[in-house]
Amino acid sequence: MKQVTYEGLTFEPYITREQISARIAELGIEITRDCAGKMPLFVCVLNGAFPFACDLFRAVDNKDAEITFIRLKSYEGTSTSGSVKEVVGLHEDIEGRSIIIVEDIVDTGNTIYKLIEDLKKKKPAEIKIATLLFKPDALARPVRPDYVGFKIPTKFIIGYGLDLNEKARNLNDIYILKEE
Ligand code: IMP
Ligand code: MG
Repeated sequence: MKQVTYEGLTFEPYITREQISARIAELGIEITRDCAGKMPLFVCVLNGAFPFACDLFRAVDNKDAEITFIRLKSYEGTSTSGSVKEVVGLHEDIEGRSIIIVEDIVDTGNTIYKLIEDLKKKKPAEIKIATLLFKPDALARPVRPDYVGFKIPTKFIIGYGLDLNEKARNLNDIYILKEE
């Protein structure tokens, strides 16, 4: 695999599509087991989580599983802006339901924290977090993801849904910003 360049920044291969799909298969088995007998509602956080949600949802064997999509945004360029805003809300009635939030990445945790606070007001039975990537050293909120694809260092990555100013989401592999 080659390096890629976006906005003059160089990124090198970090996690391959094969590693991603193998890990998602494992998470699918785990979630299938944990949600047996439940009617889980997967809540995909757009835009970044769409490839992960697509693959993870299909890796879960549960006839009552449903999926919906919401949209939030917290990032400008390569550093967090700190502000989190909800752009498209949840219209389903989630009272008493098992929710699995599907995120691309938990960095500071601000996004997921705000989302959980909002969802709790709608009285779901439980809220679980599935995130493809987790930067534990950057975490600044009391949140603990239940399903984690890969723990990574506090570095900027792109691909498989993750963007640099909305670009690079269509890369099939994940790339990491090259240190100069
Ligand atoms: P948090 O609120 O700091 O946890 O950030 C979560 C959001 O920031 C994610 O849903 C991503 O959209 C974005 N983000 C965090 N780290 C990265 C990264 O390394 N690359 C691209 N986007 C990122
Ligand atoms: Mg995101």
